[in-house]
Amino acid sequence: MPEGDTVWNTARVLQRALAGARLTGSDFRVPQLAATDLTGWTVRESASRGKHLLLRLTAPTGRDAAASRRDWTLHSHLRMDGAWRAYAPGERWAGRPAHLIRVVLRSPGAVAVGYHLHELALIPTAEEESLLGHLGPDLLGPDWDPDEAVRRLAAHPDQSIGEALLDQRNLAGVGNLYKCEVLFLRGVSPWTPVGAVPDLAGTVALAQRLLAANRGRWTQSTTGVLRRGGTSYVYGRRAQPCRRCGTAIRKDELGDRVTYWCPVCQPECERRGTSTNP
Ligand SMILES: [Zn+2]
Repeated sequence: MPEGDTVWNTARVLQRALAGARLTGSDFRVPQLAATDLTGWTVRESASRGKHLLLRLTAPTGRDAAASRRDWTLHSHLRMDGAWRAYAPGERWAGRPAHLIRVVLRSPGAVAVGYHLHELALIPTAEEESLLGHLGPDLLGPDWDPDEAVRRLAAHPDQSIGEALLDQRNLAGVGNLYKCEVLFLRGVSPWTPVGAVPDLAGTVALAQRLLAANRGRWTQSTTGVLRRGGTSYVYGRRAQPCRRCGTAIRKDELGDRVTYWCPVCQPECERRGTSTNP
């Protein structure tokens, strides 16, 4: 499940593979960029913002192009199923089926292949904000600002905390896995209105710690256990016993997503304003 940590890791893979390199070829397999050729362009850097990937490029010197107009950003979003892989030149592309390839970027030292990417677009770097300005503070970004994240969450006290944590306008980087796990660890039902969550700052801080702990590895674990079947408390564990109380974990709809939770460890509050942690 690509969440903020996966996107952060992916940005680092692309940074190592391509940063500083001059592209020797590109192959876009999406209609909107089918005519685009990035041969001769230089990769400045790869970055992530929440769940968005930003590959910043410099166009070759043209006769008229002012320096500020040569800076472009290749934007992509992984959503549920996208991925970037970097291969050595000549290495077999073993990542995913070829029909999922949306773009190939070649450099002398590496080939980057983007699979099933969403929102693939080439925009002037100066216009990144128009694409990303709505995002809340990035849990893994240099701009991480927990107070601002709490302020944005608290601005909608009637929204369920389960939906509010997924809303990237509040804070950027939490997906369904971390949402479910954070709320379990805080003992808060996903249906609790934001205004009734006992310690929003503590909830936000825990989300940041869980994502940060998974930087640099592809296995997402909130339990500290990395072996298969042991990596989560509730996410993906419907009908299995809660690791704390033994009750069967439940899976229910919340908004347009599913949520996993323990009905005993995360009691539903009776009404708005009732603390779930008396
Ligand atoms: Zn439990």
